[in-house]
This record gives sequence, C-alpha cells and structure tokens, in this order.
Amino acid sequence: MNTTLLTAGPETLASGSPADPLGTSVAQARSAHLEELIREDPGRFRVLTGDRPTGRLHLGHYFGTLHNRVRLQDLGVEMFVLVADYQVLTDRDVADDLTGHVEELVLDHLAIGVDPARSTVFTHSAVPALNQLLLPFLSLVSVAELNRNPTVKDEIAHSRQSAVSGLTFTYPAHQAADILFCKANLVPVGQDQLPHLEITRTIARRFNDRYGNGTAVFPQPDALLSSAPLLLGTDGTKMSKSRNNAITLAAGADETARLIKGAKTDSERHITYDPVTRPEVSSLLLLAALCQERTPEEVASGIGSAGAAALKATVTEAVNEYLAPIRARRSEYAQDRAYLHQILREGNERARAIADATLAEVRTAMNSHY
Ligand code: ATP
Ligand code: MG
Repeated sequence: MNTTLLTAGPETLASGSPADPLGTSVAQARSAHLEELIREDPGRFRVLTGDRPTGRLHLGHYFGTLHNRVRLQDLGVEMFVLVADYQVLTDRDVADDLTGHVEELVLDHLAIGVDPARSTVFTHSAVPALNQLLLPFLSLVSVAELNRNPTVKDEIAHSRQSAVSGLTFTYPAHQAADILFCKANLVPVGQDQLPHLEITRTIARRFNDRYGNGTAVFPQPDALLSSAPLLLGTDGTKMSKSRNNAITLAAGADETARLIKGAKTDSERHITYDPVTRPEVSSLLLLAALCQERTPEEVASGIGSAGAAALKATVTEAVNEYLAPIRARRSEYAQDRAYLHQILREGNERARAIADATLAEVRTAMNSHY
C-alpha cells in the first residue's frame, strides 16, 4: 500500500467555510481524483469503514457509504468493516439489544454483497490493542479542537443523554484509532463524517511529526464521498436511525410504499430537481435516480407536471425494485445466526493481529517498548 501518492491531486479536506461548513465541495473534488487513482491501482488502498450497531441500516447509509464499500471490495481494494459497538454508548446510557443489532449489521453487509472472505468484519470491543491507541491519540488533539468539531456538536444536539459524556466528546479520537490501527488510507463516508476524518488526519500527522523519526508511521486517510453524501429522510432532514425518518434496507415493500407516501414534499406541482430551493423533492428524485442509475433531472422530466403523487409512485417502485434482491439475500442469511458469529470471530482474529502489530510499532516509536 503506497500512502505517498495520496498527496497528489486536488487539496485534501479543507476545514469548511460558512457556505460549506463541512468542506463537502473540496472533499467531492478530492473524491473524483481518488476514483481515478483507485481505478489505476486498487491495491494501493486499504479501506476502513463502519457503523454503530444501533439499528438497521437505511438508504442514507446505503447510498452514502455502503454501496461504495461493495464497489471498492469488488474492485480489489482491501477492506475492514468495523462494527462500532463501544460507540453505541456515545449518545445513550444503555446499549439495548446489542447482540441483536450487531447481528443485524452483519446481515445488512452480507445482503449488500460484502464478502467476509475478502473483507474483514469485526467488532470494536474485541480488539483491545485498537482501543489502546486512544491514549496516545488523545494527547495529540486539544479540547478546543474537539469542541469546535461541527459533527460532535450535531451529535450532542441529537443525543439521548442529558449530559455529554467523555466518550461522546472524544468520539473523533476513537475514530482515529479505528481508522489508523489498520493504517487505512481511504474511508468511504457520508458528509457528516468529514470533520471527524479531519481530526484523524491531524492525529496521524502529529503522531508522525512527534514520534516518527522521519518516517510516516500512519497514513493521512482520505474521505471518499459518494454522489449522495447527505440523503434526506422522509421529513426532509438527514436520514437517520434516530430521527424516525428512515427507510431501512430490511423494510418490506409495503412499508417502503407507506413511508414514501408520507414523505414531505412541497406545493409546487411541476417536479424539478433543485436541491437548494426544493430539498425534499430533490432528495426523492435523487433516490429514484440512484436506484435506476439515471440522473435526477431525467427522473424529474419523466414526471413533469404529474405532481408529488406521481413522484412518490416512481420513487417507491424504484426503491422496491432495487432493494428486492438485497432483501431476499438478507432473509436467507438471517436463517443462520451462527454463521454471523463465525464471521465476527474470524474477523476479530484478523483485526487483533493487525492491531497488535500496530500497537507494537507505536510503542517502539514512543520509546515505551520494554
Ligand atoms: P444515523 O447517522 O443514521 O443516526 P449512526 O449515527 O449510527 O446512524 P453513523 O455511524 O453516523 O450511523 O453512519 C455510518 C455511515 O453512514 C457514515 O459514513 C455516515 O456518514 C453515513 N450516513 C449516515 N446517514 C447518512 C445519510 N443520511 N446520507 C448519507 N450518508 C449517511
Ligand atoms: Mg450518525
């Protein structure tokens, strides 16, 4: 894996401007360049990606990052999929039905095409050496930097807890450990993760400067955005497990139809794609377009003046058709829970070996290898 080539091309993540607080447009330009590099030599990349086992994955996850995971895997990129079980506790006191949610998460990944023979699926809590990286990493980032991270602020705003825990506050440093333990240099994410990734890059850079002795112990990983870095839910805000506005991959066709029927639109009958002035209508158009591999403008012109009901019918059909094989595979895998645990056992073993090696390297770099 060559990490030096990743310094070529458009400037990497910027820390946002008032018009683009998360730095999405810079990250999009960078992602386009990365796509070229991936096509040229997928072997240069290692992906770390993951989710919290707090419920079933939804279309926001799918088109924001999951679809890219499978695509990258199939292109030959080495991939690690983290089930971030400790991080469930960032915004709630109790991890309800943790085993069930972990199983659902593995099922979602199998259903979309993640292949455990090629990709390592593992759980955070089973990899002690990964978690130990958190200590030196926390020393490399200031409280002020964590405090001004817009995603930390948003996560706190939507937290189920009355007080902010240290775990929530240090979430970006955890993510740095998640990504860097396996020296991943590519992270397919939705736009909300860009500020977190910026902190990972900062930690990697500072670790190398302080302890690297002229060598780069860690790469500075890049975010890879999809064409749907922020998919909206049925209420017109970010589709999210916790906002009751999501269409899950596992939902039935009827439930999907009902959810889309209740989606927020606007009073303009003529359907047009304009994400700035018509975010709700445009997000529905984008959803249909992603499912049908068309542009949102093409979907809009097919509907024209037929109004929101026709738009919703189109979206429902597109989503249900697209998800049908995924849902069928999901039901098949759901029959064999023991297989899901076997995948995790094997993944955890692989992840532990890599984390142990990285921690040993870190200790040597920090002169604490006794
Ligand atoms: P949620 O974000 O639904 O509340 P979560 O916080 O448990 O659930 P995350 O771990 O934040 O899930 O998200 C996993 C990945 O999915 C991240 O890369 C994130 O950017 C992406 N993602 C989540 N929601 C969306 C969305 N609505 N549009 C695009 N990408 C999304
Ligand atoms: Mg989230």
